[in-house]
Amino acid sequence: MKSFECQHAGVVCSAKVSGETEEEVLAKAVEHARAVHGVDLSRSTTLANYARSRIYDDPGAS
Ligand SMILES: [Zn+2]
Repeated sequence: MKSFECQHAGVVCSAKVSGETEEEVLAKAVEHARAVHGVDLSRSTTLANYARSRIYDDPGAS
């Protein structure tokens, strides 16, 4: 599994999203950022790439 946590991107937020692939995690992160933070990551390649770079291998995620 791959996971992304907002706090790893410097955001004060305890949200964590997981998925089978980087693309799946990024899609969930984009959705979360838009819904909770009012930020549309898909509109910014820089932000999207940054979020992608913060995705990590998470063997503990189910
Ligand atoms: Zn968040």
